[in-house]
Amino acid sequence: MSEAVGLSGDIAERIRGLEAVSRRLEPESGERSMVRDAVVAYAEDFLEGMAQRKTYEIEKEKAGELRASPFDDEGGGIGELLQLVERCVVEPGLNPAAGGHLAYIPGGGIYFSSLGDYLADVTNEYAGVRFAGPGAVEMENMLLDWMAELVGYPPGSGGNLASGGSIANLIAIVTAREAHGLKARHFHQAVVYWTGQVHHCVDKALRVAGLGECVKRFVAMDHRYRMDPAALEQAIAEDRRAGLIPWMVIASAGTTDVGAIDPLEEIGRIARSKGLWYHVDAAYGGFFALVDGCRPKLKGMELSDSIVLDPHKGLFLPYGTGAVLVKDKQALHRAHYYQAAYMQDVVAEESLSVDSPAALSPELTKHFRGLRLWLPLKLHGILPFRACLEEKLLLTRYFHDQVQRLGFEVGPEPELSVAIYRYVPRSGGANAFNEALVQAIHRDGRIFISSTLLEEIFVLRLAVLTFRTHLETIDRYLEILDEKVRTLSGAGA
Ligand SMILES: *Cc1c(COP(=O)(O)O)cnc(C)c1O
Repeated sequence: MSEAVGLSGDIAERIRGLEAVSRRLEPESGERSMVRDAVVAYAEDFLEGMAQRKTYEIEKEKAGELRASPFDDEGGGIGELLQLVERCVVEPGLNPAAGGHLAYIPGGGIYFSSLGDYLADVTNEYAGVRFAGPGAVEMENMLLDWMAELVGYPPGSGGNLASGGSIANLIAIVTAREAHGLKARHFHQAVVYWTGQVHHCVDKALRVAGLGECVKRFVAMDHRYRMDPAALEQAIAEDRRAGLIPWMVIASAGTTDVGAIDPLEEIGRIARSKGLWYHVDAAYGGFFALVDGCRPKLKGMELSDSIVLDPHKGLFLPYGTGAVLVKDKQALHRAHYYQAAYMQDVVAEESLSVDSPAALSPELTKHFRGLRLWLPLKLHGILPFRACLEEKLLLTRYFHDQVQRLGFEVGPEPELSVAIYRYVPRSGGANAFNEALVQAIHRDGRIFISSTLLEEIFVLRLAVLTFRTHLETIDRYLEILDEKVRTLSGAGA
């Protein structure tokens, strides 16, 4: 007896000793505000000094200096750490928050999202199951319903706020696999239809979903890189005659290379009449449906069985939010539900669990992504988002027009906010010239762009989707282009 008391006393002593140290993880108000104020001051400097920062810093070696400051038992002060973050993380490489980011498909970083994240992190709301976080789950489902309405889905759809478009596409593909009852023995006969312009993450998602062996049909495109519906119909018929299983057609609402929109309505009609799952990758283009003048171009999205939109692109959110919508919520649920003994209290509320992200996605515990989208939408209202998207469409058309005056050759009139162009020099190879031009722009660093190959032709891309890109950004870029072309032409002559 006395021995047990002695042991307990001993343990209690040790617990108190550990508590004294572990309570450092619960800083008091004074320490909280000291660190918070330093972080906020740094963030303010970053935002206020944006115009003086480069968009692209070619020197990447600074990142390695992080290793010179290893983790230790005692930790350090915030001032020194913010200096490390500035020098090793924020300075090198791309500044994706800058309006000068005009490469790939740019992302966002609207400020109020960061405050939504702050609240989501401080409260640590559990957004995986309705049982634990009814409000958090309700908020995410309300956002998904808002997107479903934008797409034109009828009530009864489901969805998920994932970490990005790649995972959102994966969720759709797994749902399509289960909905069509595809088993391993069918995989090598299952046929997916898409064009050569499909985003690579869709191919990757097929592989991750175990479907790497399925048959991939690259359907012919028209001269504007859009799927040819007649070719699709013919390919499906041929495959069926050959004993294959036409399974899924994937259309793009805004391709990464050129911003092309596949003929969504015609593809939808074909998919329905032939019994294929119809998936639309609208990661880049989907939110342009908020712009009245652009919505007709996206007609046909509503015919899809599943669709992906990327709020960290088209709604200017900081990285970390993609969305998938599935017209038949039950199909999404059948592909992702779960059961476990330790979940019995949750699963007992069956009707509710069908509404829970954990039953509709691969994740259980997840970041409460809803608040970073809900807060800015509620604070700003929808109007500035519509205006910003329309501004981006017009900036792209403006650029497409102006760059021709500088003597550039251009691709077709931009469908969305991507333009392609190249400079054809009087002498010498055009591909080599444009490659050198990209390199010169990267070395300059004020603006960041990317290039692509279209039928072996090296072309430059302009992709306008950062909310901070405005008319002055495009004018500055036009000046830089003009300056670099002169320098390169002079050097090459
Ligand atoms: C960006 C993009 C993706 C991938 O989304 P992530 O959010 O980068 O994972 C997929 N499809 C298209 C068309 C995209 O533009």
